Amino acid sequence: MAHAQLDIRFTTNRLANQNLVHNSYKFQIKSSRGDRCYWKCSTRNCPATIDTYNNIPTKVDDNHNHHSDRMQLRVDDVLERMKSRCKDELTAIPTIYEEELVKLRDREWNDDTHQLVEHIPTFYSCKHQLYNERHKTLPALPTSVADITVDGEWTETITGQPFLLADDNTNGRMLVFSTQKVPEQLII
Ligand SMILES: [Zn+2]
Repeated sequence: MAHAQLDIRFTTNRLANQNLVHNSYKFQIKSSRGDRCYWKCSTRNCPATIDTYNNIPTKVDDNHNHHSDRMQLRVDDVLERMKSRCKDELTAIPTIYEEELVKLRDREWNDDTHQLVEHIPTFYSCKHQLYNERHKTLPALPTSVADITVDGEWTETITGQPFLLADDNTNGRMLVFSTQKVPEQLII
């Protein structure tokens, strides 16, 4: 089915499970064996199924008993954009949320965009998802000095050179960060 191959994409939901989207309907994995995957429509009690091999549909039974999830999928796309910015940037999370909403409002304003903006969850209801994304790349903020642990990649520069020169706990906590080069220059 050539048309089915063209109109298929994969997304990741907030539990990091993969979803398949076909004609604005969302599918979830029912079972898989090697490169073969059996998907069922994510709407409960809907009989629609898709089989894929290496992510290419081999059988499509799109006998849905409900309307498509078009609006929900568009909302998911906006949330995904926010989440990937939370992961890739250090911009404050409420700012990312606001900026993405402003982008939607800046587009041609019609009933469709209006409806989409109305369906975006409030900051309060999606902030946990967004902060979770940020915590995947950044450690949680410490609440006391004892909580501060600096290890692994956080002790190195982006080129892998040592950056944490001292971590002294004898008289209060003292952390010294520097590349090797700077102290050498100071000594000279
Ligand atoms: Zn369905």
